[in-house]
Amino acid sequence: MTAVGFLGLGAMGWPMATRLASRGGLVVWNRTAGRAAEFAERHGARAAATPRELGAQVDVAITCLPTSADVAALLEGPDGLLAGLRPGALLLDCTSGDPATSRRIAARLEEGGIAFADAPVSGGTNGAEAGTLTVMIGGDAATVARARPLLAAFGSRIEHLGPVGAGHAMKAVNNALLALNILAVGEGLAVLVKAGVPAAKAVEVLNGSSGRSFVSESLVPERVLTGRWPRTFRLALLAKDVGIARALLRDTGVDGPVLDLAGELFDRARAELGEAADYLEAIRLIERQAGVELRG
Ligand code: NDP
Repeated sequence: MTAVGFLGLGAMGWPMATRLASRGGLVVWNRTAGRAAEFAERHGARAAATPRELGAQVDVAITCLPTSADVAALLEGPDGLLAGLRPGALLLDCTSGDPATSRRIAARLEEGGIAFADAPVSGGTNGAEAGTLTVMIGGDAATVARARPLLAAFGSRIEHLGPVGAGHAMKAVNNALLALNILAVGEGLAVLVKAGVPAAKAVEVLNGSSGRSFVSESLVPERVLTGRWPRTFRLALLAKDVGIARALLRDTGVDGPVLDLAGELFDRARAELGEAADYLEAIRLIERQAGVELRG
């Protein structure tokens, strides 16, 4: 059986690794070691002390860190992942990363005979727990074929989109559209409440009309109207994703004033709300500015 290791047991990594752990023999590593120890105890996995120690025990390593720069840094140094992985190994990066850094990572790994694919995911922490994530892969066909059975542990839709970097490009654009939609729905609802329409009724009518979206159909009813505001995906990470999409626009020479503005607004929200805020809390800034509450 393929020996698998998972690095990065955060909000997404923990439930993704949990699903892989049921195969047996999983090795985990986390920057804060106590979290890896807790995971190992709860799920019958082995905790490695360093990325190198993990790399030496596995055929496939899976990363889920905040950024591609974090993944690149994890490879290097005497205790880095590259020092442990053997030729013939595979690194699958489920980080929502950036295509340019992933291409550099792939080239660096190739020197050691190690394959790479970017495999970011969509579907949130609920999707990770349920094993219903969409996985967006960039890599060569043989690598993707090798990765599929493992990715199926947490993904129900696995799409091969092109060469290394294609998965990250797809994910960045998806999340830029999500960010844009959060702002637009927040602004639209704020103005409707000001115009005398109760928030819950406005959402109900929107969802029976052509302005509806995932934000209006799922996120706002579950988190904003209920006043629950759970923290599942850090706003800082969504701001990072819009930044990746904006860099892609620049690199490819496509004008993107709409996504640029969404990026600026999310960068501002990040500065105002901090690193721990949830992505949907961008709507709280709109509420505050407008002097309305959308709960109801
Ligand atoms: P979290 O902030 O919850 O977790 C981040 C994880 O990365 C933690 O295990 C953290 O370790 C580790 N980490 C942070 N910085 C470093 C570093 N420099 N070196 C090594 N490890 C590090 O993030 P998420 O799990 O939410 O997100 C992970 C990735 O998945 C991101 O790219 C995000 O954009 C993406 N994503 C998130 C979704 C969500 O709903 N949350 C949905 C889809 C994609 P430690 O415990 O020590 O802090």
